[in-house]
Amino acid sequence: MKRALLWFRRDLRIAANPAFSAAARAGHLLPLYILDETAGGASRWWLHHSLVSLRRTLARRGLELVLKRGDPAEILPRLVWEHGLDAVFWNRLYEPARAREDAALATALSKRCAVQTFNGSLLLEPGQVATGQGAPYKVFTAYWRECRRLLHRQPPNLAAAVAPAKPVAGVRSERLDDWRLLPRNPDWAVRFRESGRAGEPAAQARWQAFVEGGMAGYADGRDRPAAAATSRLSAHLHFGEISPAAIWRDAVRAADVYPHRAADIEKFLSELGWREFSHYLLHHFPHTIEAPFQRRFAAFPWRRDAAALRRWQRGMTGYPLVDAGMRELWATGYMHNRVRMVCASFLTKHLLLHWRDGADWFMDTLVDADLANNTAGWQWVAGCGADAAPYFRIFNPSLQAEKFDPHGEYVRRWVPELSSGAYPPPMVDHRMARTRALRAYRSMREAGPGGVG
Ligand code: FAD
Repeated sequence: MKRALLWFRRDLRIAANPAFSAAARAGHLLPLYILDETAGGASRWWLHHSLVSLRRTLARRGLELVLKRGDPAEILPRLVWEHGLDAVFWNRLYEPARAREDAALATALSKRCAVQTFNGSLLLEPGQVATGQGAPYKVFTAYWRECRRLLHRQPPNLAAAVAPAKPVAGVRSERLDDWRLLPRNPDWAVRFRESGRAGEPAAQARWQAFVEGGMAGYADGRDRPAAAATSRLSAHLHFGEISPAAIWRDAVRAADVYPHRAADIEKFLSELGWREFSHYLLHHFPHTIEAPFQRRFAAFPWRRDAAALRRWQRGMTGYPLVDAGMRELWATGYMHNRVRMVCASFLTKHLLLHWRDGADWFMDTLVDADLANNTAGWQWVAGCGADAAPYFRIFNPSLQAEKFDPHGEYVRRWVPELSSGAYPPPMVDHRMARTRALRAYRSMREAGPGGVG
């Protein structure tokens, strides 16, 4: 019998969790979670409930989730030393800073015990996919075609079933309530339950309902914010409450069972592909957290206007679809993808405010806030990302509403005062804003050198 530590991070599940499966085989197991102090306000709410759920799942197996706060580079070696552990296991993360810290920690720990790390959160890791010349892909369709080819040859790894393990006794845990991850006075998260319930059982239930219905109507319905046509898995996937490998397996099976749903299933898989591509880009182009993927956008004449930013954040722009989205986000911690695109476009093109201002707000207010997906999403809309929408394609928020919320259901849900006269007039005129944005774009093209990555 050996004694192992499993470090949970963004893999808060036990099913199809490769690090957990491997660690449990040791016989004695210490499951550990170290608080991620970088999580935004809304994410912390989700994290709290996800940890409650994980603790319950582990308790059913006779294991106690140990909670610690502080620097993993100090906590892990201390636990190994104090409790005579033989091995440490974790699933890898792909944000550049995390990957660097993990590598240093693995080197330090391996002087005292065995260290094993796994892929638990992507279908394919960034290093597994490259062009014929060995370079990273910069265009989604070519990248995804290659991923599909690789996944067809070798489906993603589903971890073996978890063996029963005994706890490592006598390890002191902090109290989850002392972390104060939930808001109080005021509790601004009262409506967050509408964005889903955290935890592995809830993630499984949501996915089962979605896949057993053959993802009916996803391909068309996914653009309609009033419909419940999407999976709502994003926060579950971010926190690793469900494995993308298991999702892949089930979706591929569903394609056999529901051949008439092929278009829906394909579309869904390609959205998972965008999640993969976003992590891939962040790994290969780490500067994109702060700087544009397309270098010439460094010369873009962004405006600074704190009052305009506040009106956008509060959903008081005078454009009903934008305001509905921003209010849905504030109230529930979630915003529909189509509306994310419209709100992000409004900030970066109608208001000419920096995409970073919007990305920061989303990171603090989304329960699914994810550095890779959020950075790629914002740069895509702002036109400065890899394989991005061209900057000069400027959404007209009113036409977007007519097209994707034709009966005004979504807008009325979030902007009830629309017909009462209490609603503000548009803060900028669409035609003026469009002309101004195109002028700014032209000035950038004249000023800056090109180049990518
Ligand atoms: P579904 O349509 O059911 O898609 C299934 C899964 O695929 C999602 O759960 C998600 O993991 C992934 N996915 C779907 N669309 C995208 C996409 N465009 N890029 C990357 N992955 C995708 N997603 C996040 O998870 N976290 C973020 O912080 C985030 N910020 C965004 C910011 C902007 C400006 C934009 C335009 C998009 C952002 N997205 C982000 C992507 C997308 O909006 C959400 O993943 C999606 O709305 C979640 O709803 P769902 O789970 O029902 O999606």
